[in-house]
Amino acid sequence: MKGKISEVFESIQGEGLYLGERQVFVRFFGCNLRCRFCDTKLDSFLEYDPDELYKEIKLYKKGFHSVSFTGGEPLLQKDFLRNVLKLTHRDNMKNYLETNGTLPQELKDVIDYVHIVAMDLKLPSSTGLGSYFEAHRTFLEIASRKEVFIKAVICECTHEADLMDGLRLIRDVAKSAILILQPDSGGDSEAVNNKLDNFKDICRREKVTACVIPQVHKIAGVK
Ligand code: SF4
Repeated sequence: MKGKISEVFESIQGEGLYLGERQVFVRFFGCNLRCRFCDTKLDSFLEYDPDELYKEIKLYKKGFHSVSFTGGEPLLQKDFLRNVLKLTHRDNMKNYLETNGTLPQELKDVIDYVHIVAMDLKLPSSTGLGSYFEAHRTFLEIASRKEVFIKAVICECTHEADLMDGLRLIRDVAKSAILILQPDSGGDSEAVNNKLDNFKDICRREKVTACVIPQVHKIAGVK
């Protein structure tokens, strides 16, 4: 069995709750979405079998916090992912899955080997795509068996009504999950900052724990 992998590298996590932690990143090739704000370049890949990829991950010196399986969308290659997760799990590495949260059946097949789920909440007015709330609901139900936090990209065009739908979902399914509001601008747009202030107040009122964390690796120029 072969998996398509765009790159493997070691760096500092630049977003979300584990900001600043050293990780080995495994970027999976391919994504099932086309978000308006996407800046992930996936133009080439190498093919690995699970054991080859596991051996490459092990080459990085010990002492990293976790292995970040990211993309693209790693769950698109669910069978391959599952085999690699099993190997790293057996070696006591911590498996951190970064996912767009739209493929719940695939998550079900790998969740036993995942320690932390970093799930995107795709708000239609941010992505420019349709609604994924139903898929997100099932996904969160499964992800809640493990540690999970949620990230939503906020742009000038993000609607309050979409945020409210997302908050309802979190309250229904994963009450204790923290929501990260992630500005698409890197924090230098006044309009987005005003929106974030308003959205934080709404989260507080709706009793969902939320914080604003920009993508620090972009600001700092770190890969
Ligand atoms: S889910 Fe992530 S990788 Fe896929 S298009 Fe959206 S932002 Fe890009």
